[in-house]
Amino acid sequence: MTCSASNNVAAVLKSVITSFLLLASFYSPARAGMAFDSLAALAESGAPAAFLAPLPAAEPPEATLLRPAPGLSVYFVNVGQGDAIYMEFPDGKNALIDGGPSSSASGPLALFLKERGISSIDHVVLTHPHADHYKGLQHVFANYTVGAFYDTRVDNSGATGDNAIRAKAAELGLPAFYPAPGDTLDWSAGVEVKVLSACHEPFSSKNSETLNNCSIVMRLAYEDASLLFTGDAGEDVEARLVGEYGDALRSRVLKVGHHGSRYSSTSPFLAAVRPERAYIEVGADNNYGHPHPEAVSRLLEAGAEVFRTDLSGTQEFSAAVPMLCMAVTAE
Ligand SMILES: [Zn+2]
Repeated sequence: MTCSASNNVAAVLKSVITSFLLLASFYSPARAGMAFDSLAALAESGAPAAFLAPLPAAEPPEATLLRPAPGLSVYFVNVGQGDAIYMEFPDGKNALIDGGPSSSASGPLALFLKERGISSIDHVVLTHPHADHYKGLQHVFANYTVGAFYDTRVDNSGATGDNAIRAKAAELGLPAFYPAPGDTLDWSAGVEVKVLSACHEPFSSKNSETLNNCSIVMRLAYEDASLLFTGDAGEDVEARLVGEYGDALRSRVLKVGHHGSRYSSTSPFLAAVRPERAYIEVGADNNYGHPHPEAVSRLLEAGAEVFRTDLSGTQEFSAAVPMLCMAVTAE
């Protein structure tokens, strides 16, 4: 959104406040009282109206701009072939969903967080135990203060990296949560975070599709913005979600499932979600053929504008606090 709807209100308020401050700076309280008495006497004496004209309102400095107040900001970080979604909430809290495929301090997620000057993350989610989602969390756990860890209870029996991440979280004493479908997460005032799907009962698998379908799927709503995060969930999960939630899945923003795989973003699912904006986290020239042209076609047919990290880098979606702008001084 822009400030246009509220600019007029903000400008009038600013003008009134500026005039008041100008008056206050000219007159001490005692002198202000005297000035009022003098003006009242002049009014009674029938003095020319022009003489009684109020002081002209000071024009705002030219360098003052009006910008939307901080709201919700979501970054689909370009981490190559993998997921990492970082978000900042209106009350200053923040969250990270997945860490991408690099644990290096010079990896894309590390550089993104460093560039933003972030030192702590309140909520860290691992959607499912695949390396393109958990590796970057090694860097996060080793270098940032983390408030809480949200995980599934499925073990990737074909890998050890997920065990190492979970051991590190335990070593740090992080509160660990294993949300179940239907749970609501209390992340930030005014922001609703609802878990729609997750494997919260313990089991092991090395089957890639099984692990993908364990992804924590969550829907976040703030004011008139709604975002659906699907991890790497595939068509089976999408069908179940449509059956369970139907039109309640509707979300303006969709984090496209499984990097735009052919077996995600099915038409019935998209008909329920009806996304306006669809974000695909995907690496250039990846070995999986992601995103699949058929999935992209279905997204476009559903009316979504498609954004891809491989083509356009890190993508930002933001929703401002409605009807509230703040004055800032341009540099
Ligand atoms: Zn993945």
